[in-house]
Amino acid sequence: MFSILLFIIGGIFGSFYNVCIYRLPNDLDIVSKNSFCINCKYKIPFYLNIPIVSYILNLGKCRNCKNKISISYLIVELFTAVLFVYSYKLYGLSFEFLGYIIFYSSLIIIFFTDFKYYVILINITIPISVIGLLLSFFNLNPFEASIYESVIGGVVGYLVIFIIRYLFFKIRKIEGMGLGDAMLFLMVGAWLGIKSIYLILASSALVGALVGILIIYIYKKDKNFQIPYGCFIVIAAGLYPKLGSLFYNMI
Ligand SMILES: [Zn+2]
Repeated sequence: MFSILLFIIGGIFGSFYNVCIYRLPNDLDIVSKNSFCINCKYKIPFYLNIPIVSYILNLGKCRNCKNKISISYLIVELFTAVLFVYSYKLYGLSFEFLGYIIFYSSLIIIFFTDFKYYVILINITIPISVIGLLLSFFNLNPFEASIYESVIGGVVGYLVIFIIRYLFFKIRKIEGMGLGDAMLFLMVGAWLGIKSIYLILASSALVGALVGILIIYIYKKDKNFQIPYGCFIVIAAGLYPKLGSLFYNMI
């Protein structure tokens, strides 16, 4: 019963994250006004704005202009709903439960702002980093990183990207990575600890480069085409708590 309630609450939060993903990078207010259709500006009445259900009932189209609404809206709502239930299964009602939700929620939002708009907002990475450090300080980190591992993880995470970015700029005179990526690594390090940084950096860079090459090859983009690298960091960081220890046990 409680899981169903959490699923519904998660869906509502997911719906709010969709608003953040669209409005924050576009400098729009996230609190005021109803949700509206991006195409025709039709305001969706609150009683028709039911997470997950509305999208499926309207077959992913605006009720008013029938314009297609991105599947990402549904994905975000479903993911967040499942996240709430899963976090409860892992930790019960606790600070770790909240921490787990906060960390993965921020990953979801960052993934889609980077994917859609090529931005990773410091309005998200900075406060979430601070929360991660506080949880580690009070021994409430859901990923069991100590405050020592968190601080070093954040600093190293940021510096590594900062240095790579600097070298890239020196050698190729273009910006390979944004400071947004560096801030994202700071955040990930603060939550998952220093040990995670190497693995997340290596795997995200490798997969990101491969996917980038494939896209350039298949879609005939020119070689300065930018991939949203943050998305790969998010996926690697999201998988790390499950797969990281497996990998370190193997080597
Ligand atoms: Zn519309």
